[in-house]
Amino acid sequence: AAPSGPHSITGVANCDNRHFRGGTLQIRDLSMAYGELEVLKGVDLDIPAGTVTCIIGPSGSGKSTLLRCMNRLVEPKGGDIRLDGESILAMRPEKLRRRVGMVFQHFNLFPDHTALENVMLALTKIKKMPRQEARRVAEARLADVGLAARRDHRPAGLSGGQQQRVAIARALAMDPEIILFDEVTSALDPELVKGVLDLMATLGRQGMTMAVVTHEMGFARRVADQVVFMDEGRIVEAGSPQQIFDDPQSVRLKRFLAEVL
Ligand code: ADP
Ligand code: MG
Repeated sequence: AAPSGPHSITGVANCDNRHFRGGTLQIRDLSMAYGELEVLKGVDLDIPAGTVTCIIGPSGSGKSTLLRCMNRLVEPKGGDIRLDGESILAMRPEKLRRRVGMVFQHFNLFPDHTALENVMLALTKIKKMPRQEARRVAEARLADVGLAARRDHRPAGLSGGQQQRVAIARALAMDPEIILFDEVTSALDPELVKGVLDLMATLGRQGMTMAVVTHEMGFARRVADQVVFMDEGRIVEAGSPQQIFDDPQSVRLKRFLAEVL
């Protein structure tokens, strides 16, 4: 068996025995406003360690804002978010960046750096890891996402799907307790979507704790342990994929599904 521990994990292709140290996230009565505009109006959500939560809902319903609160890219107005019992609202930013990873729609890679350097930068800057060790970890995580051979390419020399997998490798390299994904396949050409979703499904199977905002209903149905439907700043329904997709209760969810499925 593979030894457990942060940097002893094996590649995605053969790592069903991979060990992630998942963290449980608890969100209580969370509110957030941009000026006068109330965007989150009392959100309660539990994301148990080692599970995948998919967040669906119409554009403007507050999905990105909810994720952004989870790593404090924006500051909530009220309520609390706890990671394994510890409030993230009181956590030092560097500690939060290590514990909560995020992957964005537009990759946010540094264009002047290679794939390897992009992954290393997070480790040397935020984790203060020596370059030698950072290089070793970055190479391993790029191998995990199937990009060992591309490590010396700059983002412009990679496909959108490859760039997104570099961004996922960068998040994984931090050894986070949870990773947040915000519509990470929405900007990709259709033929590149599957590779990224398959990687995310693999991570979910391996026990990574994940919060995934997505329009990919097939992915949500297949991979999610829990599906959350948001509308107008509130969670309207939450449940198993079967409950949400096969037995929606509210008019709003029924209408949403009729539009997207
Ligand atoms: P979703 O991700 O579900 O599309 P968002 O969380 O991005 O929703 O946005 C929720 C609401 O907040 C929308 O009405 C949007 O226009 C508004 N909003 C989002 N970001 C900002 C911002 N930086 N400043 C002001 N309003 C914002
Ligand atoms: Mg959004």
